Amino acid sequence: MVIIVYDERFLRHYSEGYSHPEAPSRLINALESLKTYNILQKFKSVAVDRLDYELPYEVHERAYVNYIRELSSKGFHYVDGDTYVNRYTFEVATLALTASVMSYELREVSNNPVFVLVRPPGHHAGIRGSALGAPTLGFCIFNNIAVLAKRLINAGFKRVIIVDIDAHHGNGTQEIFMDVPEVIHIDIHQKGIYPGTGSIYEVGSGEAEGTKINIPVPSGSSDSTYKEILDEILEPLINCIKPDYMLISAGYDTHYSDPLTNLRVTATTYYNYFKKFYGLASRLCNSRLIAVLEGGYAEGIRSGLPNSIAALAGLEPYVNEVETSGISGKDIVSEVKKVVKKYWSIS
Ligand SMILES: [Zn+2]
Repeated sequence: MVIIVYDERFLRHYSEGYSHPEAPSRLINALESLKTYNILQKFKSVAVDRLDYELPYEVHERAYVNYIRELSSKGFHYVDGDTYVNRYTFEVATLALTASVMSYELREVSNNPVFVLVRPPGHHAGIRGSALGAPTLGFCIFNNIAVLAKRLINAGFKRVIIVDIDAHHGNGTQEIFMDVPEVIHIDIHQKGIYPGTGSIYEVGSGEAEGTKINIPVPSGSSDSTYKEILDEILEPLINCIKPDYMLISAGYDTHYSDPLTNLRVTATTYYNYFKKFYGLASRLCNSRLIAVLEGGYAEGIRSGLPNSIAALAGLEPYVNEVETSGISGKDIVSEVKKVVKKYWSIS
């Protein structure tokens, strides 16, 4: 059984009169795909039953939260060149945080993996807004997975892994936990695109040095590249870290159809990644795994999301796709391993 947290109020955040890739259609397409494969009927779908207005302050500075609240109250505005708010955004972004935190209770009570189907996405939102010198917020308002990770740490968990598989670097998440050793942030992203951060030498600071692991992959990376990374870095590393909770920043913009990136990943990789992650979570941390939606602006959500759910449910993949061209991950695997080995004993 997989629990899917979704609330139709997530559709209220939209760019009024302008077309924008981060649109309600993303979740509508996601839901359609889940209906196609009978997933919503088969698995438990839960709506958000509360709204906690204190949550944004747990990871963001008060001035930033108040700025977003103020701007949102005035109606549709661009916060920066990429990111908009409308009159519902403050409430919707707070609801997305609430859903993320609620997923922890749902997982603990049911012992089932949880997928939080939210928008706006969160992983670019840093402490004061745009993070680590990024030019914009990259469509994000508040950092959903960071608030969840913070809640887990407050609950006493000591090794919370966030694996960010969105095609863009999760600079907001990295900034928020830069000096927090309890959060091990592993981020695979396309090198050289927005937000420009996430080099292999960004490893965390102070006591947290070595707990931020970046895997920047070249343009054109595909299923075979991602498989090498999974087998040679992620699996041994997660085994070595021995997490007590696993969180996934699940972005579907690595898919070959995505207009914002230049990767060649198919729906098969999402299946393989989620299967491996859930297997590791089952072995290492009593199956404690929660995934939170990040980006994905084309067909990746329609095919990758059902495959992710199938993997979490122990089923065969719903969608089978085969890569048409692949590039080797050998170079990036060996570069990342050199850095990681300074902190973790992987072979
Ligand atoms: Zn992205």
